[in-house]
Amino acid sequence: MISALLPNYNRAPLAFERGEGAWLWTTDGRRFLDFGAGIATASIGHGNKHLADAIAAQAHKVMHVSNLYRIPQAEMLAQRLVDATFADTVFFCNSGAEANEGMIKMMRRAMFANGHPERYKIICFEGAFHGRTLATLAATGNHHYLEGFGPPVEGFVHVPLNNLNAVRNAIDGQTAGIMIEPVQGEGGIRSADIQFMKDLRSTCDEFGIFLGLDEIQCGMGRTGKLFAHEWAGIEPDVLSAAKGIGGGFPLGAVLAREAVGKYLVPGTHGTTYGGNPLACTAGNAVLDVILAPGFLDEVVRKGNALMAGLKQIAVDFPSVFEAARGKGLILGLKCVIPAGEVQAAFTAQGLMTVTAGENVLRIVPPLVITDSDIAEALAMMRRGAAACLPDVAKVAAQ
Ligand SMILES: *Cc1c(COP(=O)(O)O)cnc(C)c1O
Repeated sequence: MISALLPNYNRAPLAFERGEGAWLWTTDGRRFLDFGAGIATASIGHGNKHLADAIAAQAHKVMHVSNLYRIPQAEMLAQRLVDATFADTVFFCNSGAEANEGMIKMMRRAMFANGHPERYKIICFEGAFHGRTLATLAATGNHHYLEGFGPPVEGFVHVPLNNLNAVRNAIDGQTAGIMIEPVQGEGGIRSADIQFMKDLRSTCDEFGIFLGLDEIQCGMGRTGKLFAHEWAGIEPDVLSAAKGIGGGFPLGAVLAREAVGKYLVPGTHGTTYGGNPLACTAGNAVLDVILAPGFLDEVVRKGNALMAGLKQIAVDFPSVFEAARGKGLILGLKCVIPAGEVQAAFTAQGLMTVTAGENVLRIVPPLVITDSDIAEALAMMRRGAAACLPDVAKVAAQ
């Protein structure tokens, strides 16, 4: 008989009852170092007092009023995001997929309003992940995810990552814009080259189309900049954020330039929960931490230290790992043996990670990890990798 909770996940038999920083404790008292961070979401750590206190205080006052009224917490969070980024305006929602839906709708609607209703197609990239709603599934383009859900939503074209000629060839009179993750998360920590990002910007300008960035996973400080595109010195027209933006509280956002955002006038788009006082209080508390002086520099420093350790592990265990990759604290170990086996070996050592595409083990710890967390994680990885060796030897001997 089916379980009461829909079994659409292969869940590990672990249940956590509390956390502190990068550490989680199970209901039966075991301790794990969480380098998955709820899939790159618990950005400022578990049990963060500043975040928890802010949420609790707001919950006691008012959680939800609907978007029929002004919401000071949302106005404040939007203003802070505008001040910190390229954006002129922000729309809040509850998840990543919803943020991407909003971003896609903004691009299409702006083309429509500018007299180009025929320009509705979005160029996306192989290996992308944009979400599980019908339109974001089509944008993702992965056949496994699309199968059985009817005709894919029309208007998404896929080209290889880091191939400018393929992008230019895909642009035609129906193109509204380009949608790209500066660092693909689910796809296996695959980075768009800095030059490619610059070229996408100039290509969008040349053809009069929009550059939309999905920074749901790589944004909110994860690469060591507030948003990953800042490394390329470019600005998008529109950007989606979620995951780390709420530090574990469900929150998504679409950040836009006025020229693309201004056409979502009353009646064109909406959400009941999106941007409510509770969620935006969480978002403001997260920003307090991430925008504090020196915080992002520390992400860079810790990311470099972790990456150096990962590279050494890849060198020391060549039959388990092929390479280390990524930027800041969105890192990956490309595995030789199935990444799921390495993940299980790490879990057995007390270290949580997440698998990703291309047989990569994703390492996306809370941004607040300490140097000793890094040292402990690397030690657990070494023990876990060593535990994988006999199996590899067996396979090699066959
Ligand atoms: C997780 C993710 C999404 C989808 O977010 P949900 O909150 O699961 O809807 C979209 N894009 C990227 C890059 C993601 O990592």
